[in-house]
Amino acid sequence: MRPDRNELIKLLSLQDPDELADLYKRAYEIKKQQVGTKVYFRGIIELSNICSKNCFYCGIRSGNADFKRYTISMQEALREAKWCYDQRYGSLVVQAGERTDAAWIDFITELITNIKELSDGKLGITLSLGELSEEVYARWFEAGAHRYLLRIETTNQDLYKTLHPADHSFETRRECLRSLRRAGYQVGTGVMIGLPGQTMADIADDILFFYDEDVDMLGMGPYIPHHNTPLKHLVEGFDPDNALQLGLKLIAACRIALKDINIATTTALQALHPDGREQGLLAGANVLMPNITNTEFRDGYQLYEGKPNLDENADETMDSLSQKISAIGESIGFDEWGDSVHFAKRMN
Ligand code: SAH
Ligand code: SF4
Repeated sequence: MRPDRNELIKLLSLQDPDELADLYKRAYEIKKQQVGTKVYFRGIIELSNICSKNCFYCGIRSGNADFKRYTISMQEALREAKWCYDQRYGSLVVQAGERTDAAWIDFITELITNIKELSDGKLGITLSLGELSEEVYARWFEAGAHRYLLRIETTNQDLYKTLHPADHSFETRRECLRSLRRAGYQVGTGVMIGLPGQTMADIADDILFFYDEDVDMLGMGPYIPHHNTPLKHLVEGFDPDNALQLGLKLIAACRIALKDINIATTTALQALHPDGREQGLLAGANVLMPNITNTEFRDGYQLYEGKPNLDENADETMDSLSQKISAIGESIGFDEWGDSVHFAKRMN
């Protein structure tokens, strides 16, 4: 059943701590029934901070000349993938700024092929590389990637225009989501919450968009201002506690409204609170993406202010993550792809 817009606005507008606790509990019950309490890990490799786009909120946008650009070598990326495989993470995510040139497309194709080879086909591969043609998406799918994350960012098209240069198009991005579906991917999208000028009615419409597009996965998070962007005036006055609460409410409302999809608890939550990601699991998320990018490159991938720089490819972090997850009564889906239940149902 299509979620009720007014009901969503009501949930998203809750402020009272007891009512919020009830909201998270209700979402957690639905998560338990629909997808269980296993957390799926996807190690994230931040492959490159080179980006041809200039989104006004993003720290690595092309207009920011104030930091060094990098691209991780094939060898290093494969080392990180191998680490992931050895840790028995079922999947990894390859994320980067957007590039559409032939050399990049070939590099990614080769990387996917190599990751599949080193893991005997076992590591699941999610891509998050922005807007490309359906042909390129199909090529990467054939090489072995099977999930793709492309956030729509906001479905309020007027707001979209205020956050992007004129040549960044909402319609193109939405078409990309549809191309991805046609190419065979499990499709993930998402939005940022707390954008300047965004209302709870906008967020309710975002959730209805997720429903109408029948998405399989969501990766959403609070917007966190960055000092080197056109929105830098928002850094001062930014309230991390409020942003965390918004992020958790969004996860809970999506779990309640959309039930059996995969929902990630994102690094942005962790940037706001050391236990932010665990709180995300308790509010209804079931996927966690440890950052396994070599720390040498981390400083270069600051999409937003205060991005955590933890060395999650250190064995001790793996231990502490496992402990935190068992402390909330959940287990880790080692060696499993943890595909979206929603996708499986559609395929049947
Ligand atoms: N270039 C690709 C993938 C990397 S950006 C793409 O844009 O799809 C990944 C996500 O980072 C974006 O979708 C955006 O939602 C998020 N992001 C960018 N700047 C942010 C900020 N200041 N606060 C929170 N999230 C941000
Ligand atoms: Fe590039 Fe993605 Fe940042 Fe936009 S959000 S500037 S596409 S990295």
